[in-house]
Amino acid sequence: MAEIRDDALLLRRIPFSDTSLICHFLTAEHGRIALMAKGARRPKSAFRASLEPLYDLQIRWRPGRTGMGTLTDCHRGNSLLEPALSLQGLELLAIVSRLFQEGDPHGFEESKAAMALLGERGLQQGLLAAVWYLLTISGWLGDLSHCWQCGKKVEQTMRWQHANLICDACGNGLPVSAGLRKSIVGALSSGHIRLSVAGADSWRGMIRSVLAEHGIKPTDSFNPDYS
Ligand SMILES: [Zn+2]
Repeated sequence: MAEIRDDALLLRRIPFSDTSLICHFLTAEHGRIALMAKGARRPKSAFRASLEPLYDLQIRWRPGRTGMGTLTDCHRGNSLLEPALSLQGLELLAIVSRLFQEGDPHGFEESKAAMALLGERGLQQGLLAAVWYLLTISGWLGDLSHCWQCGKKVEQTMRWQHANLICDACGNGLPVSAGLRKSIVGALSSGHIRLSVAGADSWRGMIRSVLAEHGIKPTDSFNPDYS
């Protein structure tokens, strides 16, 4: 069977037998796929140096007649993030890996855009902005000026309840001030808006509750005891 070639991001590496890896990729044209990298755990395997997350990859594989395809080549291109952002990049990939499941045709462009947002917004707000962006395109978030329940436009303080932003008439919950909402919108669209520490904590808490609501295990930065 003819080989297929595509641009890819590496999401997961799972040991298989003593010498091989099952690799999950998000690809530009083929969505999320799992491929067997035979011998990839051997010390001299060419895959060892190239099968890295957080890089642009070009991969080639032979589709399986019935089951999983076989990775035949992996070329490592540019790094997606500066080294200081690697840990947050891996957190982002862990969330991406839960949002785009196997067989999903989407995810590559979206993940690259989220990764770019992380890179541009940097250490303090980059991960918050990137995850918010992904949750928005997943359809789990509404916009920050309207009640997500009744649709009314709200200028004053709103409420955060069960991973929803609602108006006073629709219920109660943690206050989300107009200023905080404006700062979040600003941080998403520009690198010049800095949230206060308290504001960033609130934003982090909102994201944590959305992840929890959808059964996604929080990564380190979204754990409740994160400081
Ligand atoms: Zn409402």
